[in-house]
Amino acid sequence: MWGLKKFLAGSTNFINSPFYIKYGIPLLLLIWVTLLKLILFKYIGQPTPFLLYFAVIIITARYFGEISALVIIFCAALVVNFFFLYPYDSFSIDTGHLVQTGIFVLECSFIVGLSAALRKTVQKMHQRDMVFKALVEKSAEGITMHNADGMRIYCSPSVEEILGYTPEELLKQDPWAYSHEGELLYAKEQFYRLASHPGKTITILHRVRHKNDKWIWLESRLTNLLHEPMVNAIISNFTDVTDRVYLEKQREDFIGVASHELKTPLTSLKAFTQVLENRFKNSTDTSSHEIITKIDYQVNRIVSMINDMLDVSSLQAGGLNFNISKFDLNELINELSQALQQSMRKHRIVVNLAPLDAIPGDRDRIGQIINNLIANAVKYSPAADTINISSKIDGDYVTVSVQDYGIGIPEDEQKSIFEKFYRVGNSQKAFQGLGLGLFICYQIVEIHKGKIGVISHPGEGSTFWFSLPL
Ligand code: ADP
Repeated sequence: MWGLKKFLAGSTNFINSPFYIKYGIPLLLLIWVTLLKLILFKYIGQPTPFLLYFAVIIITARYFGEISALVIIFCAALVVNFFFLYPYDSFSIDTGHLVQTGIFVLECSFIVGLSAALRKTVQKMHQRDMVFKALVEKSAEGITMHNADGMRIYCSPSVEEILGYTPEELLKQDPWAYSHEGELLYAKEQFYRLASHPGKTITILHRVRHKNDKWIWLESRLTNLLHEPMVNAIISNFTDVTDRVYLEKQREDFIGVASHELKTPLTSLKAFTQVLENRFKNSTDTSSHEIITKIDYQVNRIVSMINDMLDVSSLQAGGLNFNISKFDLNELINELSQALQQSMRKHRIVVNLAPLDAIPGDRDRIGQIINNLIANAVKYSPAADTINISSKIDGDYVTVSVQDYGIGIPEDEQKSIFEKFYRVGNSQKAFQGLGLGLFICYQIVEIHKGKIGVISHPGEGSTFWFSLPL
C-alpha cells in the first residue's frame, strides 16, 4: 500500500524506458478501455463517447511522457470516432462529430501540457530535496532538530560520528541525558530562552558524554525556527571542538603560570632600579641617570603587560576581585592625568569634567580603564600633541571620553577591538602591545553595569568612551 502511494506521489516514470514499454503499455491501456467501453456500450451509450479516454491520457502523460500521450490522443480520437460516434463501426465525417473530436484533442493536449509542467516542477523539487538531503547527511557537522520542549525530532547520520550514538538511539533519549553537569543548567536556560525568541540564533559551548564514556566539548549553534510553519523546530548544528578547547586551556594556563612566575623577579628589578635612580638623581653622572630612567620605563612596561596577563587569567578563572565603594570620579581622573602628564614628553592632556557627586564602583579598576585609554591615546597618536578628557552626565549615567587625534581605527575593526588579543591590522607592526588592555576595560565596565565604545575615523583620531551608572 505504502509502495503504491509512493509510486503515485513520487517521481517514478517510464519516460526513458524502451520503445515497446513507452508506447506499448499506453496502447494496451487504450485497447483495454476500448474493449471495456464496447462491452459496456449498451449501458453507457452514445452521450459519453470520450469517457475513460481522459484517464488514459492523464496516466500516459504522467508516467510515459508527452510524446506517448500525444500518440495516444491521436489513436483515441480515431477509436472514438470509429466506435462511439454515429454511424458506429465506421469513420464519421459529420462536421458536428469532427468538431467534437477536435475539442477532445484540444482538451487532451491541454492536459498533457499541464502534466508536463507539473512533472517538471515535481522533478525540480525532488532534485532540490536530494541536494538538501545530501548536504545534511554528508555534512561533517551534527545536525539535530528539536521541538519547543527540547525533544529531538531529527538527527542527521553525522551525529553518530561525533557522539557515537546512532540517530535512532538519540531520538529515543532525553535531550539532556548526556550533558555535563557543569554546563547543564546554563545550556537548558539558554535553550528555553531561545525557544521564546523566534528567529534568534545562539552559540553555546558545552560538554557531552560520548558513547565511549569520554567527555567531549561541542560548539552548538542553535536557531529558533519554531515560527516557520514548514520547519517548526529549533535547529542545532554542532561540531566537536574538544582539541581547540584543550589547546585554549593550555594557553591560558601557560599565560597564568608564566605571568605569575615573572611577577616576583620583576618586582625586585623595579625596586632595584628605583634605588639606583634615587642614587643617580643628584649625581653629576647624567648619562647613567638617563640609562636608569630608560630601564625603569621599560620595566614599567613589562610590569603593566604582566598585570594585564594576570588580570586575563583571573578573569578566566572566575573573575577579578572588586571593591565597590563610593568614590570621586573627577578627583580620580585629575589625579591620573596629572601623574601621566609628568611622564609625557610631547602630549598635553586637556581635562574638562562635568561636576559630579561620588559614584559607586571600584576606584582602582576604574583608574585602570582611564590609564589604559590615556596610554592608548598617546601610543596611537605619535604625530599629535593633544589628548582631551571630558565627562558628561547622561540621565542615570556618567560618560567619560578620551579623545586623541591619532591614526584612528577602520570601521569594520571597531567592534572587534574589545576582544581578547585583538589588534588592528595597521597597528600590529608599528606599535607594540598584547591586545589585552581594551578587553580588560570591557570586562571591568561590564561588571559595573556600564558601557564602553569608540567613535573613530582613520587618519583623524579616536574617542574612546565609557559610561557608569551614577
Ligand atoms: P594593545 O594596545 O596592547 O595592542 P589594547 O587592547 O589596548 O591592546 O588595544 C587593542 C587594539 O585597539 C590596539 O592594538 C590598537 O590597534 C587599537 N587601539 C586601541 N586604542 C586605540 C587608539 N586610541 N587609536 C587607535 N587604535 C587604538
